[in-house]
Amino acid sequence: EDTTRNTPPSSTISIDRSALYSPPDHSHESSTDTELVKHLKNIIKFRGGPITVAEYMEEVLTNPKSGFYINRDVFGGEGDFITSPEVSQMFGEMVGVWTMCLWEQMGQPKRVNLVELGPGRGTLLADLLRGTSKFKSFVESLQIHLVECSPALRQLQYRNLKCFDSDDNADRRCISSIADTPVSWHSALEEVPTGLPTIIIAHEFYDALPVHQFQKTCRGWCEKMVDVSEDSSFRFVLSPHPTPASLYLIKRCTWAEKAELAGATSVEVCPKAMDLTRAISSRISADGVGALIIDYGLDGIVSDSLQAIRKHKFVGILDDPGLADLSAYVDFAAVKHSAQEVSGVSVHGPVTQSQFLGSLGINFRIEALLENCSDEQQAESLRSGYWRLVGDGEAPFWEGPPELVPTGMGKRYLAMAIVNSNQGVPVPF
Ligand code: SAH
Repeated sequence: EDTTRNTPPSSTISIDRSALYSPPDHSHESSTDTELVKHLKNIIKFRGGPITVAEYMEEVLTNPKSGFYINRDVFGGEGDFITSPEVSQMFGEMVGVWTMCLWEQMGQPKRVNLVELGPGRGTLLADLLRGTSKFKSFVESLQIHLVECSPALRQLQYRNLKCFDSDDNADRRCISSIADTPVSWHSALEEVPTGLPTIIIAHEFYDALPVHQFQKTCRGWCEKMVDVSEDSSFRFVLSPHPTPASLYLIKRCTWAEKAELAGATSVEVCPKAMDLTRAISSRISADGVGALIIDYGLDGIVSDSLQAIRKHKFVGILDDPGLADLSAYVDFAAVKHSAQEVSGVSVHGPVTQSQFLGSLGINFRIEALLENCSDEQQAESLRSGYWRLVGDGEAPFWEGPPELVPTGMGKRYLAMAIVNSNQGVPVPF
């Protein structure tokens, strides 16, 4: 199975360790350490000093042997966290409406690459295909490309998209029987063939990209690093001198207003998000059509948002690496500026998820679904799903146990589109 590790990404940052404090002279290993913990400690030991938070995050999430995403299904009630496509079918359906509108606006091209970055269980795409399957010329135009690093999730996507292996197997494609569309898997966007108009969807993908964390100190900006302490547990330390990732910090700061910077005592930067955005934008500029990025985040500098979630609860970032999800707020302003570095694209948004889904007609969709729903339990689940997607705060109508009250994602989640400049303004921006 190929993984993202086969070819090291161009944005990998190495640290000049000669300037860092010497590591403590003691054994790093404890007999109960997991494979991943041993691996992280070995990197720190052999490098002779701490690693960046970004390097830690990348290993924890996508280490090809024991990363959080690699071996299992982490989504849903039984898993570690729930995402919008898992909350309600209406999410994938609305993204389907957006995709079809963009395709219409381009003049209904005969062949289109539909790329999803980090499809999880494949639920968004399954709902998108089910929702649009009646529009034959649209679904017949689609070539689906999934960018996924996890072999376990690739299998789930295969199943949930009801795939079968095509007889015409020269290029080893699969067909999704939901709407008879060809599907193939890749470990990075660069592997997806170019030359066709392309629509890219990234839902909760950017928040998994590794962030560097900086703190303002009396010595200036220092990078937060991960080290092993005397008792063999992980701990945070600060770099004594500027690190290579400081170049990205400087770049990020040039995009910020003076007032925004004045108040900042800590800043997160995500070089991989900047690089990915430029790669997406170059593709859209050359091949046409656009990308949709939906995630939780801010339209400005993010200070200290990295969090760990295990079994639906917050846990320590350095506790049990590989068993909890690590994610960070997306800095949409940095995404916008990175896209604007590429000519031939225009950026729209961000708007809140509630504005995005509302303008695409989710209110009409829920009404239609409720009209055809005779089962009260199913109707309740549609209503609470709707609230979670577009509401803000705790659901007002909730009558179940207080610990299960759904919290709305309507304002914390933002949507942004990057489209080819010839495309005009995409719906609903
Ligand atoms: N979009 C889905 C899943 C979000 S979780 C949803 O909304 O439900 C993040 C997804 O991205 C997972 O499928 C994970 O395996 C994948 N992923 C994370 N980092 C990746 C990387 N560097 N390369 C490819 N896939 C990655």
